[in-house]
Amino acid sequence: MELGGGGRRGAGDGVRRQLQSVGRLAAYLGGGFLLLSAASSVAVRSLRALSDANQRKFATPCGACEGKGTYACRLCRGSTTIEWSPMHDPVFVNPCLCPTCEGTRVQRCLNCLGKGCA
Ligand SMILES: [Zn+2]
Ligand SMILES: [Zn+2]
Repeated sequence: MELGGGGRRGAGDGVRRQLQSVGRLAAYLGGGFLLLSAASSVAVRSLRALSDANQRKFATPCGACEGKGTYACRLCRGSTTIEWSPMHDPVFVNPCLCPTCEGTRVQRCLNCLGKGCA
């Protein structure tokens, strides 16, 4: 059957052409996606820089530390040591270096994370 064979060959060519065009489309889409993701990451970066600048411009001093970024250690209350007993025995209460401020008498503000502004 001459007609049937020709028809099959024609269909095969068509599929191959379709596959080629699909490949080209995929490459195009892939390139577009890469471009898009690069563009969006640049946009995100610039947006973040913008919001950082805005935050710096409109930042209000942290209320918890009054803009200093640190406040007096709450664990040792500025005495640099805590009374710690390993045995829970009041006889063996030893002064220990405060683990929160490590003897600096101040601890980093947890509200602003030491930045001094909210
Ligand atoms: Zn302390
Ligand atoms: Zn603060």
